[in-house]
Amino acid sequence: MQPPAIDLRKINKSFGPVQANKNVNLKVAKGSIHGIIGENGAGKSTLMSILYGFYEADSGEILVNGKLSSIRSSKDAIYAGIGMVHQHFMLIENFSVLENVMLGAELSSSLKESKISAREELQRLSNEFGLAVDPDAITGDLAVGLQQRVEILKALYRGAEILILDEPTGVLTPQEVRQLFEILNALRKRGVSVMLITHKLQEILAITDEVTVMRGGTMVATRETATTTKEELAELMVGRKVLLEVDKTPAKPGKVLLEAKNLTIKDSSGVTRLDNVSLKVHAGEILGIAGVSGNGQTELLDVLSGIVAVQQGSVVLGGCAIDKDNVLNAKDFRHLSLGHVAEDRHKQGMVTDFSARETAIMGFQDEPEFNGRIFMNNKAVTEHCVKLMAEFDVRPGNPHLKSANFSGGNQQKLCIAREMERKPKVLLVGQPTRGVDIGAIEFIHQQVVSLRDAGSAVLVVSVELEEVMSLCDRIIVMFEGRIVGEMAAADADAQKLGLLMGNAGSESDTSAQEITAS
Ligand code: ADP
Ligand code: MG
Repeated sequence: MQPPAIDLRKINKSFGPVQANKNVNLKVAKGSIHGIIGENGAGKSTLMSILYGFYEADSGEILVNGKLSSIRSSKDAIYAGIGMVHQHFMLIENFSVLENVMLGAELSSSLKESKISAREELQRLSNEFGLAVDPDAITGDLAVGLQQRVEILKALYRGAEILILDEPTGVLTPQEVRQLFEILNALRKRGVSVMLITHKLQEILAITDEVTVMRGGTMVATRETATTTKEELAELMVGRKVLLEVDKTPAKPGKVLLEAKNLTIKDSSGVTRLDNVSLKVHAGEILGIAGVSGNGQTELLDVLSGIVAVQQGSVVLGGCAIDKDNVLNAKDFRHLSLGHVAEDRHKQGMVTDFSARETAIMGFQDEPEFNGRIFMNNKAVTEHCVKLMAEFDVRPGNPHLKSANFSGGNQQKLCIAREMERKPKVLLVGQPTRGVDIGAIEFIHQQVVSLRDAGSAVLVVSVELEEVMSLCDRIIVMFEGRIVGEMAAADADAQKLGLLMGNAGSESDTSAQEITAS
């Protein structure tokens, strides 16, 4: 019998008091795609970093193709045939594809000779694995999906027979994800072993042969993918049963509570970020904004929440028209019964150095209930936080703990609690569940739906298509600052939304499609 491509035995790794990996055992069969799934902080990236030589394990053994290997650096890993595609690409943007692939692995001392043989090798790999990329393209000009191909080519060029991909799909459109999976299939067919780290259950089911679940640093189970379900995997990840579908009745939209009319926003260098956007959000509905991040969603939230002043067009909120002649600030917006859960909770939603009780009143600190004439009413501030923590299941329920010391999901619950507590008529939510674990996702979705059912208008911006489709009632897609499509959530699927998100049909996209087809 063939030994496994990778055999990890009793791997332990601690960072100070945190034991990131506890006695982890993992076998990856040669020529298979092995998924590793787990919540944030489960220890997935640590394990992969040990395998790739970024960290050294405190104890344990690594066998590659049955041979005990000492991997102390990425050089050792490459020598053992292990390649890694990083979550954040490590490419040099102004180098060509060819140069990036060769960099650090030149075959000859003459650069010219190296380039000629590297070009041939790159061509061969591209053909063999369906990884078409123009070798002379400037890497920084390529779409994200193509840059990722360059990362894969770079690993294969170095002779990788075992490829680690850590959360590779976070930055991709659904079409790019499909193309990536086709590539992974081609790699598997040719005997490459793939380790795919993700927190997305549907990806595990779509592509892997086997899946290992990690929780709290330990390996809790390995399953043959064909014999498991989303529900079972979610339960293994979280340690309890989780409701994966958002539980809600059809929306009953009432009157318009928030309206954007022809909003255009230019940034400080004069680039149009929001281009003539008009939309309405009704009482009792959740409107979702889908799109690859960076297509105007952030600017839309900024202007709808009063963080950025209206430049052109207007916002109508609570019977009040806000435009460049009637400028209101974020506090005024709040007084018009608007809540805003910021996309980036660390930059806008909280000050991580502040205690939870301070985070719990951010934006409301001047309200008479918290602010006496001279001093803050400390007792009221603390009691308020304790109440929010209880209602929104924030753990640990300690109002004096520094905000930074809560997990992503608990930070998010605290921010959402603060914004929802006053039952705003309009709620804006940016990335409701970014970096949030499955268990907390379920809770957050329930809260948003209950506010909708109480008659509020909710606008959700999310880069997670599954979330937009399951949480929202109506969906708008943004591309390059414009609205490029709208549909009822019931009519939406990943394919339709993905095409709009990539603005398929435009010139820039045709070239990408040709590259794929060739
Ligand atoms: P995952 O990739 O599953 O989200 P990680 O392996 O990144 O999880 O993290 C596992 C645990 O180890 C977390 O509690 C994390 O905070 C901690 N951790 C990871 N890397 C470091 C580090 N370099 N220093 C300190 N703690 C770390
Ligand atoms: Mg990770």
